This record gives sequence, structure tokens and C-alpha cells, in this order.
Amino acid sequence: MADVSRFGIEPIDTHYTRPGHAAAHLLMEGDQVAVVDCGTTLAVPLIVEALTRRNLELAQVSAIIATHIHLDHAGGAGALLAQCPHATLYVHHVGAAHLIDPAKLSNAATSIYGEELFGNRYGVIVPAPAERVVAVEDSFELQLAGRVLRFYDTPGHARHHCCIWDEKSRGVFAGDAFGIGYKELRSTEKDEPFLFPTSSPAAFDPAAMETSIMKMMELAPDYLYITHYGPVVAAPAAVARLLDQVRGFAALLPLLPELSNDQLAARVFAIISEAYMDYLGNEAPPAELGELLTEDVDLNAQGIEIWGKRMWKNG
Ligand SMILES: [Zn+2]
Repeated sequence: MADVSRFGIEPIDTHYTRPGHAAAHLLMEGDQVAVVDCGTTLAVPLIVEALTRRNLELAQVSAIIATHIHLDHAGGAGALLAQCPHATLYVHHVGAAHLIDPAKLSNAATSIYGEELFGNRYGVIVPAPAERVVAVEDSFELQLAGRVLRFYDTPGHARHHCCIWDEKSRGVFAGDAFGIGYKELRSTEKDEPFLFPTSSPAAFDPAAMETSIMKMMELAPDYLYITHYGPVVAAPAAVARLLDQVRGFAALLPLLPELSNDQLAARVFAIISEAYMDYLGNEAPPAELGELLTEDVDLNAQGIEIWGKRMWKNG
């Protein structure tokens, strides 16, 4: 993992489903703090503890930023706001209403996971007071103690996704727009991370994903701060490999009507694992590779199927 603590940026493990799965990022500048992708409501005590450990007060948190409103990124935004008296929540304009009134998010997730698993994973979603929410548009600028953060509209993973450019560290808070890069998948020999796309339901759009990635790469970032998991160097080779996989997903379109769910998941696994083997070269993959990727492969296959139906319907 890239160490960017000299820029005041540190990942905090939110323990979403397991350690090392999802990171909130603290961004510290002067006497102010921003929390990017705070995680679920259940992660809020971990964020509070991380701030306390750094002798930071909750009153110093001036910004809570959601890259998008998926619950592993922003489910806890309302609960964290309630603890941080001077914080404002910044979220993409398409998603803002759903953090103000999270009923739809709760209901959708409850219908997928069932009440019990939903509670165990996400806790209770606390509404964010509308007057403390800023619905951001493309090119919106936020200043954290004078440090400029610029928001970019980056659809493809979700329509309510934005990436945040931090000029000072030349890094992008990337949410899920640059895929997933688990620490367990990293080479022991190179700096470059392995990234694979996340096409989870229900608004995957491979063309938009590619455009969003290119848009952020035009800024020539040194680092990507990705939720799953942590700061990595923005190696062009890693991004090229990520784009190849996005194109691989898109190329499944003509086959989708014929493929069963299992067959589609197998195709998705093959695309990711082939890219991964290419990345590893002579290094051995972790023994638990299949297990590590199972949930993401399933979610990716579901998202690709939904995208495919949309494409077929629109001709
Ligand atoms: Zn997401």
C-alpha cells in the first residue's frame, strides 16, 4: 500500500464484512478533517476511535464526503453527521435525496439481504438532515482549510458516483470508479496494484466507466485512494489492465441471453483471474483466490446481466 500519510491521508478499516474489505479515508489539513466514504453506520465508532487516537475532535470534522451512496461507502453518513456538529455532507446530486430520506436504500438492501443480515451488515441507516447536505455537480470545489478538493462526475459503477481530485497529493479519492484492489491480491515484488472492475447492480455502464477512468487519468494522478482497499500508486499499467477487463465485461453482451447465471459468473471470474495471472507473472496467486473473489464475481455478474437487459431492451 502506498504511504500517503505525509499528505495527511490515512485509510481506516471499517471492518465491512471482514478486515481489509473497505477503507474510509481521513484527510487532515490544518485543524480540519474530511472523512471520505465513512462506511456503514456500524463503522461510525471505528471512525470516532480513529479520530480520538490522533487527538482529533469530532468538532474538527468539517466535511463528510460520499463518493457514491452504496451503503458500504455512505450508509453511515447520517450517523456520523449526528456526531460531528460542524460537518457538512457532500454527495453527488443524483444520490443526495436518498441519504436525506434513506427509506428506499434500506428497503432495497433489506429485500436483497433479509432483515437479519441487513442489520448485521449495515445497522440502522440514519437520515442526513437536508440543511447539512450539499448535492454536488461536476467541477464542484470544496476547500478544506484552504486545500482544494475538486469533484468530478464519474458514472459507470453508479450514476451517483463522483471522484474527488486532491491537487496537494496528486491523488484521486476514487470510491469504486477504479475498481477493487484488495491488499491480498498485491504483488510482493511490484508497487503497481492489481485492480479489477466492480460492475455491481444496478447501474453498471461499461462505456461510462471507461470514460470516467480516462477523465481522471487525464489529471495524471500519482495515487488512487480506493475504498476496497486503500491508497495505491496510480500505475498506468494497472489502469490499462483494469480497462481491459471492463472491455471484457462489455464484450459479453451478445452472449448474455444464452448464459445461465453460473456460466456468466464463470466468465466474469475468468476475465478477472486471467488479468490477475498476467499481473502476477511468475508469482504464485494466494490460495484463497476463488474465495476472496466469490462475492464480487457474483455481484459483477448480476450487474452485467442488468446492464445487458437494459441494452437489449434499448436495441
Ligand atoms: Zn459501489
